[in-house]
Amino acid sequence: MGSKDKIRKFFEAHVGEIVTTAEIRELTQVSEYARRIRELRDDEGMQIISHNDRADLKPGEYLLLRLERSPRFSHKIDKVQRARILERNGLTCAMCGATVGDPDPYMPGRKIRLHVDHINPDGPTIDENLRVLCNNCNEGRSNLAVPPAPNTLGILRQIRKLPRGEQARILEELRKKLEP
Ligand SMILES: [Zn+2]
Repeated sequence: MGSKDKIRKFFEAHVGEIVTTAEIRELTQVSEYARRIRELRDDEGMQIISHNDRADLKPGEYLLLRLERSPRFSHKIDKVQRARILERNGLTCAMCGATVGDPDPYMPGRKIRLHVDHINPDGPTIDENLRVLCNNCNEGRSNLAVPPAPNTLGILRQIRKLPRGEQARILEELRKKLEP
């Protein structure tokens, strides 16, 4: 039996009980158990939570909530959900305000690509835990360190990061100014 099968069986035998990394380590004799647990959750939808999900669990403690599998626990984002999050966030990076079609400031000649990302990487794949990031912010090349360029694109990015209501106010102000 492979280590993943052993871990699956162990969790299922202790459903609703706290399981510790020490127990899993002893069971499998491998050091990669954390990855195996992630795979059981992400690929199989096993409802395993950790201290990242619930304050009463200590680091190194896991809990299989119930035997039913749930796609909510999977970290895979399907096409429909991805499209919904992109639409909800106005096709705009939550960190730097870049949008589809903007030139990539780090890769001349390339355009920005958007990703849908987990806010809490260990949390469930529900809309509330998802956000849009551009390829640069997603890879940690955050534009936050670089002040926005004082040009139209830089200012537009700042505006796109504001809540919808604020954006509407700016639109109103510009209308008042520009329309006769
Ligand atoms: Zn970004």
